[in-house]
Amino acid sequence: MLVFDLQCDQGHRFEGWFDSHKDLAKQIKNKMIACPVCGAESVRQVPSSFAIAKRGQASPRPNEGDSPDPDAAARLLGEALKRYLKENFEDVGAKFANEALKMHFGATETRNIRGVSTPEEEKMLQREGVNFFKVGPPPSAETTVTSGGEEEDD
Ligand SMILES: [Zn+2]
Repeated sequence: MLVFDLQCDQGHRFEGWFDSHKDLAKQIKNKMIACPVCGAESVRQVPSSFAIAKRGQASPRPNEGDSPDPDAAARLLGEALKRYLKENFEDVGAKFANEALKMHFGATETRNIRGVSTPEEEKMLQREGVNFFKVGPPPSAETTVTSGGEEEDD
C-alpha cells in the first residue's frame, strides 16, 4: 500500500491509500474517490509535502545544511506512520502471522492488525497470498501490518 496526497477542486487536501500509482490513477479516472470534506469527486494527486523541492533553489546544494534531509523526512514519515498504525491497527504482537492467516481464510473477523513476524512467517504469508507490508526500521523488533479491507472485491 502507498499513501498519496490528494486535493479536490475546492482545495481540500487529504490522503488516500492505494495499491499502486496505477490504482490511484484508475480510481481518479473512474471518480471512485470523493473528498472527505465536501464530497467532490473531482480530485487530483498533489506532491507529498516531503517530496516538494525548495522554492527558488536552482541547483541542489547538499552541503549547505538547509537542504531537505532525506533521513529527517524518512524519520518524520516513520513517526506519522507509526502514529497512524497505533490509532488504526490492532496490536497482535507475535501472533501477527497467525492472526493474518486466520483473517485470510475467514476464520476470524477481518480487521486491520499490526505485529511482529519472523522472516519464515513472512515467506509463509506471501505463499498464502496474504496482503501485508512492513514498516521499518523499528529499533527493536520488525513491525508488520496487514489490512483486511478488500471492499472493492465485494
Ligand atoms: Zn473538498
